[in-house]
Amino acid sequence: MSLTRIRHKMLAVVGLTAALGFVTSAYYYVSHQEKALLAQNEQTMIRLAESVSQGLQSVMLAGSADIAQAFADNLKKIAEVSEFRIMRANGDEAFRDNQTIDEVNRRRGEELFWPRDEEKRVSILPADNANLRQVLHTNKSLMLYDRATPERSTLTFMLPVPNSEQCYKCHGSKSNIRGVVMLTTSLARVERDILKTRQNVVLLLGGALMLTMLLTGYTLGRAVIRPIEKATTAMQAVSGGNLDSHMKVGSGDEMGQMASSFNLMTEELRRTYASLRREQNKLTTIIQSSSEGIVVTDSEDRIVLVNPAAAALLGKSETEIAREGFLGLFDAPEEIAIWLTAGDRSGPHMKIRGGRHLRVFVNTIRHGDGDVLGSVAQIRDMTEELQLEGELRRLSTTDGLTGLYNRRHLENTLRNELDRARRTRQPLAIVMFDVDHFKRFNDTYGHDQGDRVLQAVADTMRANLREPDVPCRYGGEEFLLILPATAQATAVDMAEQLRAAVEAMAVDDLRVTISLGVASTPEIDTTIPDTLIAAADAALYRAKEGGRNRVSVAGVTGVSGGAPT
Ligand code: GH3
Ligand code: MG
Ligand code: MG
Repeated sequence: MSLTRIRHKMLAVVGLTAALGFVTSAYYYVSHQEKALLAQNEQTMIRLAESVSQGLQSVMLAGSADIAQAFADNLKKIAEVSEFRIMRANGDEAFRDNQTIDEVNRRRGEELFWPRDEEKRVSILPADNANLRQVLHTNKSLMLYDRATPERSTLTFMLPVPNSEQCYKCHGSKSNIRGVVMLTTSLARVERDILKTRQNVVLLLGGALMLTMLLTGYTLGRAVIRPIEKATTAMQAVSGGNLDSHMKVGSGDEMGQMASSFNLMTEELRRTYASLRREQNKLTTIIQSSSEGIVVTDSEDRIVLVNPAAAALLGKSETEIAREGFLGLFDAPEEIAIWLTAGDRSGPHMKIRGGRHLRVFVNTIRHGDGDVLGSVAQIRDMTEELQLEGELRRLSTTDGLTGLYNRRHLENTLRNELDRARRTRQPLAIVMFDVDHFKRFNDTYGHDQGDRVLQAVADTMRANLREPDVPCRYGGEEFLLILPATAQATAVDMAEQLRAAVEAMAVDDLRVTISLGVASTPEIDTTIPDTLIAAADAALYRAKEGGRNRVSVAGVTGVSGGAPT
């Protein structure tokens, strides 16, 4: 029997304990029974010996000593009596010789008893035999067991024969004891009874043990094993994913409490599972409807989720994405591998796919303990955002009326260009100009007409530029042109060209002129934008002073250009 199952283990323990208990009680019971049987036998023996002793006494008193031996011989025929002897105090068998007859005849002075024709001296025990001496000394009977071999075990009873007053006239009063009767009986019947008792006890014990085991097995089965087996089956069902597993609460004992705890546990699991499912559904809905593309892998790098946005942005079906794998999302697998290795520090990465600008984040998904659960790619279409951003940037640097760069952009650009000119040891020039008598123009033709003229001036300005030149509206009807890597002479030529172009320009048949001031490095030795602007402004002022519609150069006296107005 294997002891891997609770039933077997418990039965083994109960069986061992019960067997130990039964064996102990049986041992005491059998011992007690043995003693009782032996005691009963002794009582019988005592009664037999006493009646023999009295019978002998009566025979002797009746003066029939010669039949005493016959009496003794007859006693041996009793089935249980194996030996019957009557001894004198010296251990010799009585009624065998003429010693006592001679003594009695001598004491009585007459031939009271006839001597035996045949006499024989039979020594039963030596005179110094310890048992014989004890009986003579104590005047008490003695029982001697010999149970060395069970089939031949015996009980020997030694009974003193007292010397009473009635005996004195024949035997004198010298000794208290006349002799000793020795009766030996076979204990075979007692031994048989004892053996039978033992056999009965063994049978009873076996039966009781079997009954105990059966009852224990049945009780254990009903009260413990079956509920445990049911609990095991229910738990296995739960571990297999069946949360509807339920245990019957049969009793109020520990097994019943276990069943009810189990049911509470599965109920809680069901609730938690349902709540998790709801959350999962929510997340799935969010992911599936998200405009951001999401691709997720498991820990084995298998693609487990591709939302519709990801398929649309990557221009591939979900099946294709799953087949090409996470590293195949874009053109260069090694690139994604590097991004993944860089982890949180990586990204965002920009990719262009189907004319769309995609912002990509890739990352490894980890459990709290650091175990890798998979990878995720988040892909966002940034095309519109980038366009908007460009438009905003353009608006923030552009003047609304003319489309030229505004004052803020002018200042930033001029600062950068001055730094670059200093670094590269190249010249830098600016041309500042102002529409002549524009207040009067506005007053005469209206502000809207003035605006249209300002727009036309801006167009003319743009038309007369080279690639790196930066045209700006400085404010009102004042403009500024940044000419990178341009020497003073070229700048003056360009200013003059511009002046002439504006002069030649007609807006709704209306004409305006401009006055221009040129300032340049290294002639004006500065890295500060305001210093250069102030120099150009001063030159412009001189152009106005000089009669307008002309070019003046900072640091150089005199002006050039059209006729004074
Ligand atoms: P000057 O030749 O000395 O420059 O004479 P001016 O009249 O141009 O003098 P000033 O520069 O003081 O006057 C500028 C005028 O430009 C005043 C204003 O009415 C006009 N102005 C400034 N900004 C705008 C604009 O955005 N639109 C229109 N229509 N007029 C403007
Ligand atoms: Mg002005
Ligand atoms: Mg003006």
